[in-house]
Amino acid sequence: MSLLAQRLQGFGTTVFAEMSALAVATGSVNLGQGFPDTPGPAEVLDVARAAIGTELDQYPPGPGLPVLREAVAAHVQRFRGLAHDPATEVLVTAGATEALAGALLGLLDPGDEVVVFEPLYDSYAACISMAGGVVVPVPLRPPPPGEPGRWTFDPAELRAAVGPRTKLVLLNTPHNPTGKVFDRAELELVAEVVREHDLVALTDEVYEHLVFTGAEHVSLAELPGMRERTLVVSSGGKTFSTTGWKVGWVCGPAELVTCVRTAKQFLTYVNAGPFQPAIAAGLGLPDAFFARVAADLEHQRDLLVAGLAEAGLLVTIPEATYFATVRVDGDGLAFCRELPHRVGVVAVPMSAFYLPQHAELGRDLVRFAFCKRPEVLAEAVRRLTAA
Ligand SMILES: *Cc1c(COP(=O)(O)O)cnc(C)c1O
Repeated sequence: MSLLAQRLQGFGTTVFAEMSALAVATGSVNLGQGFPDTPGPAEVLDVARAAIGTELDQYPPGPGLPVLREAVAAHVQRFRGLAHDPATEVLVTAGATEALAGALLGLLDPGDEVVVFEPLYDSYAACISMAGGVVVPVPLRPPPPGEPGRWTFDPAELRAAVGPRTKLVLLNTPHNPTGKVFDRAELELVAEVVREHDLVALTDEVYEHLVFTGAEHVSLAELPGMRERTLVVSSGGKTFSTTGWKVGWVCGPAELVTCVRTAKQFLTYVNAGPFQPAIAAGLGLPDAFFARVAADLEHQRDLLVAGLAEAGLLVTIPEATYFATVRVDGDGLAFCRELPHRVGVVAVPMSAFYLPQHAELGRDLVRFAFCKRPEVLAEAVRRLTAA
């Protein structure tokens, strides 16, 4: 008999852990988990180093250090054109993960439904379940194998997902694992549904700056009538190559942010004292910094995408994020278990991003991360094409 609580049944150890262990055991190039292998900007790292050993080592204020809340508000104003009161409309969290968990725990009652596009980031379904909620998935569909195109959804399926128990729409854009950026027309469809049914929107925008030529990130909160019903979650981890620091935040109307804060204060209370002013410094870097981060990553994307295609894999070109997806011949999980032994490269099966009852939808899809140094990607490509 399992001692694991019922609401966590089915959320056992993730395939990411298995694949990372396999990478170590086989000496493979690990393109599984999405974390960068280069340090973040010195302007950010130096502030954290200087903060350690000062009073910043102690508990910061519950909502976060004022300097970071002000930097978040200024950053959202600069990039999204939206004003927020740093005192009541910005909350600092232990990464985007805690912002999302806090929002779900703070807003959902048992039986409340959350509409979310599938495939979905792995923490969503688990947190919705921990909050007593119910996931209602809307499928994202890949373009035909090997043809150019974007992942898309059927607006009718989005509408059909909303019912009397729907409380929230949870949207991730730019989207992990597909690399899709929801364009303005798609966001307008989502916003229409949210407004029409008087729902709350929760958006995960941790890849907001990692967007490539031809695509543009728009926040759902920027659309008419959405600022007052949207919680926007982001994080410093991906933008500043500091995924281990776990500095995230959520912005929105005071009433919604208060719901998140009420849950958050009993989850971690606070975190990352010395790292908060460092991420504040990062958020204040000039536009050119953010443009360069995206341009560098786009170059890395191009290296990997070209290599995957050369290796004969059917790859969909991502518009953003750290990830490229390929379609394999057969089962993605078996492919990923075999790849390290066969060629010395690790990837993750996309089935991990589908609900257990839908794993079939992602069965032949595999995700590769390209947030790695060009020489590491070149070595991965060399191994993949030599096989
Ligand atoms: C990495 C990631 C997160 C987690 O962000 P943290 O700030 O590390 O908690 C959340 N959502 C998505 C889609 C991610 O890829």
